[in-house]
Amino acid sequence: MSDNPSFILQAVEKVTFEERPIPEIGDDEVLVEVKKTGICGSDVHYLVHGRIGDFIVDNPMVLGHESSGVINKVGSKVKSLKKGDRVAMEPGASCRSCEDCKRGKYHLCEEMKFAATPPYDGTLARYYRLPADLCYALPDNMTLEDGAMMEPLSVAVHSVSTLADFKPNQSIAVFGCGPVGILCMAVAKAFGARRIVAVDIVQSRLDFAKSYAATDVYLPPAPEPGESKMVYSKRNAALMKEKLGITERGAKSIDLVIDASGAEVSIQTGFCIGKTGGTFVQVGMGASDIQIPVSMLMAKEMTYKGSFRYGPGDYKLAIALAAQGKLDLKPLVTHRFPFKDAVAAFQATRNGKTGDGKMLIKAIISGPDVPVDAV
Ligand SMILES: [Zn+2]
Ligand SMILES: [Zn+2]
Repeated sequence: MSDNPSFILQAVEKVTFEERPIPEIGDDEVLVEVKKTGICGSDVHYLVHGRIGDFIVDNPMVLGHESSGVINKVGSKVKSLKKGDRVAMEPGASCRSCEDCKRGKYHLCEEMKFAATPPYDGTLARYYRLPADLCYALPDNMTLEDGAMMEPLSVAVHSVSTLADFKPNQSIAVFGCGPVGILCMAVAKAFGARRIVAVDIVQSRLDFAKSYAATDVYLPPAPEPGESKMVYSKRNAALMKEKLGITERGAKSIDLVIDASGAEVSIQTGFCIGKTGGTFVQVGMGASDIQIPVSMLMAKEMTYKGSFRYGPGDYKLAIALAAQGKLDLKPLVTHRFPFKDAVAAFQATRNGKTGDGKMLIKAIISGPDVPVDAV
């Protein structure tokens, strides 16, 4: 059986729409009719480069992984969901039996089948198959767009809460005001942050961060001609500390640094402004090999953690925060596209804005035949 229009990456810069077979589901799986899908930097990266690190697109692959939908069919052993339920979709099925799965780190599973990570197809299709326990019923006060936002929000929850164990009255600095950076600020705010510092090189993104969650914003200066990255970063950090009154210890220090930019100078600056004994979580992905001030990391005894997707409890907490109104996802969905205009959605995400100049934070593509204004 077909009737499963899908948006497929064929090769670098080459996408097509194709009918694919409707997936068959197992006893413990569900078939979801995908309604809303957010476009992520990683989707765009595959389109432009055909790879992210060691994940290489060798064969045609359906794009998309930030999705919500409505249950179309359930397997014979599924009791938690029924046809018609609205769900947020956690788009990675782990093996459930390896050491990482069994120690509660299923996101590190070697056998992970993650949507739109080669060779596995993504969610930009009419139908997507998932184990039932990876579909989370949406409370009535959440829209399907909110449901699609649970994916990037879970990335933020994983970094700020699960990995950094952020506490009320702590302070955070976030480098990079893209969707994940903004959502990290939103989670910190929901957790009762004392101070939220946003850093970006684009003033309009700082303006948005300030209106949304940040208490302070900082626009780094341009590097001097010939200045090395590390020299620049130390100068930048000194300036940032002076301008914002950030100290090494005490009430004006930064408990948690999040890098959501992947930029080498942001990471270097982050080590310089983080407090003695503080935590630094790396969630942004940029150049794979960078220089860090390791003696500073040691002398300040900072904790530096890598963050990868999300794991046990992250989706549930993300949904709880949204359902309880602890954060508002609506201002983040700046652009909406019908399925047939998926190419335009990718182009806009790539540019960070549309032709009319409107800044893009998150673009959402509706499922095939789903109206864009049905949120
Ligand atoms: Zn994503
Ligand atoms: Zn596993």
